Amino acid sequence: MKKVVIIGAGFGGLTAAKKLAEEDFQITVIDKTNHHLFQPLLYQVATAALSPADIAIPIRSVFSDHKNVSVLLGEVKSIDKEKKKVFYNGSEIEFDYLIAAPGSKHSYFGQDKWEEYSPGLKTLNDALKIREQILLSLEAAEIEKNPVKRQKYLNFVIVGGGPTGVELAGAISEIVNKNLIPDFRNIDSSMTKVYLVEALPRILSSYSAKLSKRALDDLKNLEVEMILNEKVTDVNENGVRVGDRFIESKIILWAAGNQSSPLIQSLGTETDRIGRAIVKDDLSITEYENIFVIGDAAAIKNKKGEYLPAIAPVAIQQGKYVAKIISENLIGKPHGKFRYKDRGIMATIGKAKAVAEIKGFKLTGLIAWLAWSFVHVLFLINFRNKLRVMSEWIWHYLTNRPGIRLIVKYSGDPND
Ligand SMILES: Cc1cc2nc3c(=O)[nH]c(=O)nc-3n(C[C@H](O)[C@H](O)[C@H](O)COP(=O)(O)OP(=O)(O)OC[C@H]3O[C@@H](n4cnc5c(N)ncnc54)[C@H](O)[C@@H]3O)c2cc1C
Repeated sequence: MKKVVIIGAGFGGLTAAKKLAEEDFQITVIDKTNHHLFQPLLYQVATAALSPADIAIPIRSVFSDHKNVSVLLGEVKSIDKEKKKVFYNGSEIEFDYLIAAPGSKHSYFGQDKWEEYSPGLKTLNDALKIREQILLSLEAAEIEKNPVKRQKYLNFVIVGGGPTGVELAGAISEIVNKNLIPDFRNIDSSMTKVYLVEALPRILSSYSAKLSKRALDDLKNLEVEMILNEKVTDVNENGVRVGDRFIESKIILWAAGNQSSPLIQSLGTETDRIGRAIVKDDLSITEYENIFVIGDAAAIKNKKGEYLPAIAPVAIQQGKYVAKIISENLIGKPHGKFRYKDRGIMATIGKAKAVAEIKGFKLTGLIAWLAWSFVHVLFLINFRNKLRVMSEWIWHYLTNRPGIRLIVKYSGDPND
């Protein structure tokens, strides 16, 4: 059997592996975590609405019935294209075909030191850290007697007005003010402040102007203060500088930029400005028809000459396409180009509020939110998760009480 190595069991890698698992290949899936993660719902873990197990599933369990699939927990450090080898955790593994789907990481635009004070949201670890920071900040505010010092625990700053920033800003405002604060005695919702900072003149810049305006209005109704057309120029332990203003804050969340996984550098192939492999129209890299890069780590343009967005449907469709090329033995033979079928984009802003563009239709409010909820539950990977997420959402919708408010790593010092 030919050997297929797949790096990363995110949306792209897992889709390819599931398709190829049905065929006569010896497949190895390597991931640095032991779970496939449904990133679109991470912000709900970060805001205590869902628990980690609701949105993640052990990769090993997905392939328990496929004896031709091995799952390895390890971090791939480099790839040798000539010798057809992948190096991970001091070991190596050979491949006939390689699918690299390592995703992306945050970009702090050359200011990596900001990360310490402004975490991004990519992994379960990030989400749990943010959840803990939010809960600890409220606890610190409850104890602090000095109103000036207290305010920095009640200022929440989100940097980046793309879908993740918008979702975080809406959820934090709603959950902190409506759901958490009522349980405190010394602080109230008039004291909290949520800021959304965006360097461009509008939020959700990849959406139509109408939906972007609607999202802005929805956020303003949730009392999120919008800072548009302004760049963050410093982040430190006390807060964030935006233009000539300094906002004191203990909770600064980074949702502003993305760059490809550093692993792509080791491929020694051409990359774009943010480190993604520039792939050919069949997603293979120059001169190596057996090596494919898919998902967030790949740069490929659509018919209009625009780069495809870093979203789950792109990664999923690319995973399916590459699996087909490999399983039908089309390498070296004429085969169709990868074509992305755009089925729309959507972002949620809070309870019963969302915006969506689906096949030219623009949806807002409750209808968009129902569409968003349906799609997100549908794509969760197993039935148990679908059921759990639905029941959590119904409970939350009816009671306004998010259930997951535990501080599990409490250090004793909210300033830590
Ligand atoms: C907070 C958030 C919200 C989002 N919301 C949406 C949304 O609403 N809708 C939407 O369509 N998209 C959304 N996205 C984007 C979407 O999740 C990504 O586009 C998608 O996950 C990309 O899939 P991928 O397979 O390329 O990478 P990923 O899904 O990121 O998977 C990469 C995998 O590779 C593993 N890995 C990385 N490096 C290595 C290595 N060196 N060795 C071994 N394993 C490695 C990682 O552990 C991970 O499991 C969101 C993303 C985030 C972070």
